[in-house]
Amino acid sequence: MTITFAKKLEQIPGYVAGAPAGKSPESIAGEGIAQLASNESPFGPHPAVVEAISRAAAASNRYPDPSGGLLRRRIAERYEVDPSNVALSNGSCEILLAAALALCEPGAELVYAWPSFSIYPYIAPLSGAREIRVPLADGDVHDLDAMTAEITAATQLVIVCNPNNPTSTHIPAAKIAEFCERVPDHVTVIVDEAYIEFQVDDDPDATLDLRKDFPNLVLLRTFSKVYGLAGLRVGYAICSPRFRAAVDAVRQPFSVNAIAQAAAAEAIRHGDDVAKRVEQTIVERVRVEEGVRGLGLRTPDSQANFSWIDLGDADEKEVVAKLGEQGILVRAGTPLGGPGHIRVSYGLPNENERFLEALGKLV
Ligand SMILES: *Cc1c(COP(=O)(O)O)cnc(C)c1O
Repeated sequence: MTITFAKKLEQIPGYVAGAPAGKSPESIAGEGIAQLASNESPFGPHPAVVEAISRAAAASNRYPDPSGGLLRRRIAERYEVDPSNVALSNGSCEILLAAALALCEPGAELVYAWPSFSIYPYIAPLSGAREIRVPLADGDVHDLDAMTAEITAATQLVIVCNPNNPTSTHIPAAKIAEFCERVPDHVTVIVDEAYIEFQVDDDPDATLDLRKDFPNLVLLRTFSKVYGLAGLRVGYAICSPRFRAAVDAVRQPFSVNAIAQAAAAEAIRHGDDVAKRVEQTIVERVRVEEGVRGLGLRTPDSQANFSWIDLGDADEKEVVAKLGEQGILVRAGTPLGGPGHIRVSYGLPNENERFLEALGKLV
C-alpha cells in the first residue's frame, strides 16, 4: 500500500513563479537580472519601513498580535472605516483562499472572468465549488453583463479583478456600482484591487463609498505592489465584520507575522511616497506602451504597473526564452490564459529600455 493524497490536488493548477527557484531576491538583483515577471515594485520599501522592520525583528521571540490591532487601526484611519471592517491576511491571496473555504461548499457556484488572476482557479478544487469562467469582452475587459447572466441561486462568490491581471484593463467605479445593483444579496462580490493605486480613471478610493450601499462587497487590497512589500506577505480586505469573522475562522490565528504587521503599519503612513511611486510608474507605462506600439504590437491601455502585449506573429515561447537568455524575465501568456501574449511589469527606466530594445530584435 502507498499513501494517496486528496483527489482535489489533481485539479489545483500549481503556481509557476516568475523568479528562478532556489535564488534569493538580493542575489537575483545582484546579477543584473531585470525582474519584470511578477508585477512587483522595482523600488524597495520606504526607509522608515525598513527601520520599523528592524525594530520588530528584535522582538521576534514574541508571537504577533493575533488581531493585528495597530495595522487594522491604521488602515481604518486611512480609509475612514471602522477597524471591524478590516480583515488582514498573509498576502491578499490568503483571503481569496479563505473566502473559498468560508463561503463555498460542494455544489456552490463561483463566477470569475478569464483570463484573470492565476490564483482564482485554486478556489473551486479547494472548496468543491463549481466554477464558471466568463471570457473577457473585446478590449480585454471584464464582461460584467455576461457575468451577471451566470449568477444563480447557487452562486456564492463572484470575483472581479480590477485592474485585471494579466490584461491591465480597468472598470470605473460607477460600472462596478451598476454591477453590484444587479447582483443578488446572497452573493459575495470580491473586487480584487491589487493594482487600484495605479489606475487614473477614478479616485483610487472611489469603490470604498460603494460599501455603504452594498454590504456584500469586499474590496481586496495588498501591500505587495505599490508599497513594495511583496516579500513580507500582507494583504487586507475592507469588508463586513461577518466576512472578516468568517475568513478569520478558517485560518491559523497568527497568519500575518509581527514584522509584516509592523512594516505595513508604517508603510500606510507614507501616502506621499505612494503618490511618488505611482507617478514614476505612469512615466514608465508611457515609455513601454509607446515603445511596444512603435514596434507595431498591440497592447491595451494599461491602468496597472504592467502591460499585456499581443505578440502578433512572433512566437511566445521563443520571445520569453530569448529575453530570459538576456536576463530579462517576463511572463508567458499561455499559462495566464492568453496564448500569443506576454505580460511585462514595469521596472526601472533602464530595465524597461533594455526590455524594449531586446523585444524589438525579436519581433
Ligand atoms: C499580485 C496580486 C495580488 C496580491 O497578492 P498578495 O498575496 O497580496 O501578494 C492579488 N491579486 C492580484 C490580481 C494580483 O495580481
